[in-house]
Amino acid sequence: MLVTLKPHADAACVQAALVRLGLWTERLAGDVGVAFAIAPHSAAAHVNELRCIEGVADVFCAPSQHPRVDAAGAVKAVSGVAFGSAPVWLAGPCSVESEAQIEIIAEHVARAGAQFLRGGAFKPRTSPYGFQGHGGDALAWLRRAASRRGLKVVTEALSERDVPLVAEHSDLIQVGARNMQNFALLREVGRAGRAVLLKRGVAATVREWLLAGEHCLQAGAASVLFCERGVRGYDDVTRNFLDLSAVALLAHVHKVSVVVDPSHACGRRDLIAPLTKAALAAGAVGIMIEVHHQPEAALSDGPQALRPDELAHLVEAVKS
Ligand code: PEP
Ligand code: MN
Repeated sequence: MLVTLKPHADAACVQAALVRLGLWTERLAGDVGVAFAIAPHSAAAHVNELRCIEGVADVFCAPSQHPRVDAAGAVKAVSGVAFGSAPVWLAGPCSVESEAQIEIIAEHVARAGAQFLRGGAFKPRTSPYGFQGHGGDALAWLRRAASRRGLKVVTEALSERDVPLVAEHSDLIQVGARNMQNFALLREVGRAGRAVLLKRGVAATVREWLLAGEHCLQAGAASVLFCERGVRGYDDVTRNFLDLSAVALLAHVHKVSVVVDPSHACGRRDLIAPLTKAALAAGAVGIMIEVHHQPEAALSDGPQALRPDELAHLVEAVKS
């Protein structure tokens, strides 16, 4: 933001007035007079308030690169589940492994108080020899298991080809970390007109993440929930690095809705409870957690899956 001064304005007085409002100013002096640049991370500045300061000629703001994200703001609800008051829990296995498995886990997740059942039908796996998911069959099992218990469904669309089927079986379409900048997929997901859970890429900047959200909204998505799932750090003691600064920034400065996935962030079940509490304190409105009744036998991501009783304890602990 740039504040320009009238020709004979008292620059020191104007600067003092800006500083009193909590703004960080940088004085720029040029041929056309004095101006002040306002640091973007200083206090929220209201353009009209600044224009009323004695000596100010005008205030200029650079146009946002993500106007739709800015205008949309926080997500109020997805399929009747309210976001922004009590934490929303999105829980379930990494992968839908069989109809029996998702029925058992859906029952646990519903009893624990979750609102969304998660589970991958199309799995992005680093190795081509890893379990790739049961595809369309898994979507039908997931939807049935959820609907029987009044749960909503969140699941990943791995490619443009999957989008219509995923949209038909889900309430919230997940775009995975590896696909955050797959712009053709973002547009196809947006065209489905549904709510999107947009996971942050492992090396994506906040700006790139917001712009990926802009792609979804521009293509027609009903809303975007930004999901922080850890970025790649330099240390391998945890699977990824949970970027709570980005969570706070998105929640409190950009005022968009953030879901945190501590499972993929840390990769180990013993850290999920403390990271969940930290994420909520930083401003997350939802928590996505992997849950399995037999994590040691899970076909993917067993070490980071909570056991059902651990999920139930965590949901209770967060209430008190
Ligand atoms: C997942 O949610 O199962 C998943 C693959 O997540 P991510 O894209 O964050 O790795
Ligand atoms: Mn997983």
